[in-house]
Amino acid sequence: MSNFIVGLTGGIGSGKTTVANQFATLGVQLVDADVVAREVVAPGTAALNVISSHFGTGILLADGSLNRALLRKKVFSNPSDKQWLNQLLHPLIREQMLQQLAAATSPYVLLVAPLLLENGLQTLVDQLLVVDVSPETQLQRTTERDKVPASQVEAIMASQCSREQRHAAATQLLDNDLPLQSLPERVAALHQIYSALAAEKLAKSPT
Ligand code: ATP
Repeated sequence: MSNFIVGLTGGIGSGKTTVANQFATLGVQLVDADVVAREVVAPGTAALNVISSHFGTGILLADGSLNRALLRKKVFSNPSDKQWLNQLLHPLIREQMLQQLAAATSPYVLLVAPLLLENGLQTLVDQLLVVDVSPETQLQRTTERDKVPASQVEAIMASQCSREQRHAAATQLLDNDLPLQSLPERVAALHQIYSALAAEKLAKSPT
């Protein structure tokens, strides 16, 4: 079991997935909050049954899976439904994340969570790596990747915590305005630091 958790966060389009994949090439196991959020409402889960009882079966797609776009639309226009949904899902997501973190076997495990700070998950991590880019870069890379209007990306950026808040919470910053070619070397340097800190914590922990 990994006894050391490194949180990885950053704003939309900052490069979290790109950076996480680079850590994965070094054998670091990942727990991805977005993946967990989908797993807890997969077909056959108790949570999906509760959601379809609450909103009606119209909230399901033809294959029985959750119509996430429709659900997003519904809760966007109804704060009490949003609160209801968050109260249902947040504890389940947290529980499932904890289980996956506990099951990880690499010397340390990476918790990749876009809304790590917004959802108060920093208490779970030993170190917090923030992938940092300028707002201009965020906007440019996200609009290019997703082929969406700038206004849509700007609205998401405004709903997330600020660059200053992330800087204040970070134990390390990874400047991802720099070219991709330099990423493997910089991730390798961070990997050394986290491996050493994990080994130190393990040596100190009671057997
Ligand atoms: P989201 O928050 O939307 O899930 P993300 O933080 O996971 O995004 P990525 O998808 O990893 O971000 O990166 C956003 C885009 O920027 C991708 O198209 C990726 O290929 C590109 N990208 C990432 N890092 C760099 C870099 N250093 N230089 C140039 N392009 C990059």
